[in-house]
Amino acid sequence: MVLWIGVDDTDSRRGGCTTYIAALLAKKLQEKGFKLIGYPRLIRLNPNCPFKTRGNAAISLKVDAEKEDVKGLVKMVVEENAELDEEGVEPGIAFIKEDPPEELRRFYWRALREIVPLEDGFKLAKKIGAELIYYKGGRGVIGALAAIGADLSIGRTYELIAYRKREYWGTVRHIDPSSVYEMDEATKPLTFDNIDPESGEIRIAPHTPCPVLLGIRGVNPDVLMKAYKMLRIGEPVELVTIFETNQGTDAHLQPMKISQLREGVNAIIDGIVSERPRFEVGGHVFFKLSDGTGEVICAAYEPTKSFRHVVSKLIPGDEIAAYGAVKLKPQGLTLNLEKIYVKKLKPLLVRRPPNCPRCGRRMESAGAGKGFRCRRCGLRVGEELVEIFEAPRGLKPGFYEVPPSARRHLSKPLSISSLH
Ligand code: ZN
Repeated sequence: MVLWIGVDDTDSRRGGCTTYIAALLAKKLQEKGFKLIGYPRLIRLNPNCPFKTRGNAAISLKVDAEKEDVKGLVKMVVEENAELDEEGVEPGIAFIKEDPPEELRRFYWRALREIVPLEDGFKLAKKIGAELIYYKGGRGVIGALAAIGADLSIGRTYELIAYRKREYWGTVRHIDPSSVYEMDEATKPLTFDNIDPESGEIRIAPHTPCPVLLGIRGVNPDVLMKAYKMLRIGEPVELVTIFETNQGTDAHLQPMKISQLREGVNAIIDGIVSERPRFEVGGHVFFKLSDGTGEVICAAYEPTKSFRHVVSKLIPGDEIAAYGAVKLKPQGLTLNLEKIYVKKLKPLLVRRPPNCPRCGRRMESAGAGKGFRCRRCGLRVGEELVEIFEAPRGLKPGFYEVPPSARRHLSKPLSISSLH
C-alpha cells in the first residue's frame, strides 16, 4: 500500500527543525521494516507567508505501509520532537493513501505562490479523503498537505542534511573551513551555495541551536554524498538524510502583469524601467518599472550587496524582467528583487559642446539654448553644432542575481540555471 505522510509547522524560531522529524521518521520506519519509496521531500512554501518559521519548510514521505500500522509511530515522533509549548507552533500531520490527486497538486501551487486560508486545507482534506492530525490551531495542515501534493516535475534539487547528536545541540559546530572550500571547488556547479563568493562566508552550516549540523545542496544525490565525504567534521554525526526538494527551482515565481500584483505573491514581470534607480537611507536601491498595465516600485535592499550596484546602473527605457516577492509597503506595492534579466539596454545619449571650428579647442556652453562659445578665440556657434555621443553603460544584457547570503531557498541560482 502506498501511503503519503506530510508534516509541517513543528519548529519555532528558537530551534527545532521539521526536517529532523522527517529524518527520524524515515529512520524509524525503515527500522520497523517499512520500505520508503523515493527520497523524503523537503518542500519550501510561500516565502512571504507572514507566520512562517525560518524557512517555511514542510516535509513529506512516501512509504509502503498501511496507515493504521504507522500512524502511532508518526504521532509519537512528531509529539516528541515538535516544539509544542512554543507560541505560534501549530503542527499538522496529513495521511493520504495512493498518489496525490490533481486537486492536491493545485493546492501545492497555491500554497507556494499565495497565502492559503486554513479552512481551505480542512475542506480539501475532507474532499480527497486525507486524514489529518493536528495540534492547537493546526495551521501546519496546510504545509502537510502541500508537501504531499508538491509537483517537482518542473524542477527539483537535493539537499543532504547531517544532524548532530543531541548533546551537541546549541554548541559551536566543528567543520574544517578549508575542507568546505575544497569540496566547493571539486563539486560546483553540481553543488551550490556552499560559500558566499562576496564575503567568503561558509553557507552550509546554520548558526541556530537546531539539530542541523550542515546541509549541502546539489542537483543530484550522488554529488551530495561525494561532497559530504570530502568534509572534515570534528564531532559525531547522528544521522545523514538526503531530501528531494523544490529549493533552487524558482517554483514560487509566476509571470504576472503589474495590474495583477497583490501582497504576498511572487512574480516575474516584463517591463520597462520608468524611473531612474536611487540609493536611499540605509543603502537600499529603488526604481520604478512599468508594463503598460501599471507601475510598481522595485527594491534591492542593502543585504543584496553588489546586486544593488548592478540595479543602480539601469536607466529609464531599459527593458528587463524583474523576479521577486511583492510586499505592501507605505509607498505602495513593492517588488523585492531576487534577480533581474536585462533584455535590452537603452542607449545612453550624452550631449557635450563641440570643438571650436576655428581653433580646435573644446567650446563651452553660452547658456541654456544660447549655443557655445570658445574661450580661446571668442568664436560663437549655435546649438545645432552640439555633439551627441553614446556613453558606456557599464552593464550588459543578461541575468543578475542577489548573493547567496540574500537568496531565498526557492530562488534558482544562476550557477545551475544553465545545467538543465
Ligand atoms: Zn576657438
